[in-house]
Amino acid sequence: MKELSPLDLCGCGDTGYLTQRTIPIDLAQGLGHIHQVPVYHCGNKLCDQYSLPSPVVSRIDDLADMMEEKNLNSINFTWEDQEESSQDFASLIEGFFWKFINRKYADATVIFVIPGQSIVFQSHLDDSEFYNLQYLRKDEKGAWFSFSKFYSDVRPTAEDFLDFEPTFNKELGVLAFEEIEDTLLDEFGAII
Ligand SMILES: [Zn+2]
Repeated sequence: MKELSPLDLCGCGDTGYLTQRTIPIDLAQGLGHIHQVPVYHCGNKLCDQYSLPSPVVSRIDDLADMMEEKNLNSINFTWEDQEESSQDFASLIEGFFWKFINRKYADATVIFVIPGQSIVFQSHLDDSEFYNLQYLRKDEKGAWFSFSKFYSDVRPTAEDFLDFEPTFNKELGVLAFEEIEDTLLDEFGAII
């Protein structure tokens, strides 16, 4: 069982969070690409380094052989069996949540993270304005999150969040996993 940890080191030496990216690969027929490869990356937009979990390195060798055999230039990363992919997916979601702990944007700060469940932001422009990014589900098209806005005079905590009743709550949209980072940058400005 190749269980990938949600955290390891990025290629730059900082803490890396399990995520997916397209990586280039040299093939007999020329340059190829493998998409959705599990990698550790620090999450810093300016960092172009990453590191590959060791089970992924050996799997990439097998995939490269297969691409050369079938003369393919690009494929999606897969394990030999599906069970390993769903284990990866759980770690991927966990790594994603970890990345948000203590994160600060120009217009909002993450006040707490409930791993696998919610990331809650407080606006810098209005103390009573909060945002909740909540994990909904995974289906064959990917993972889905609900992004909503709520108002409250009291600042919620991770402990009371389950029973928390905001004065006003509005869902802004349902986001695909891949859309989240860009949507948050659009909404809250740069990460500081
Ligand atoms: Zn890095």
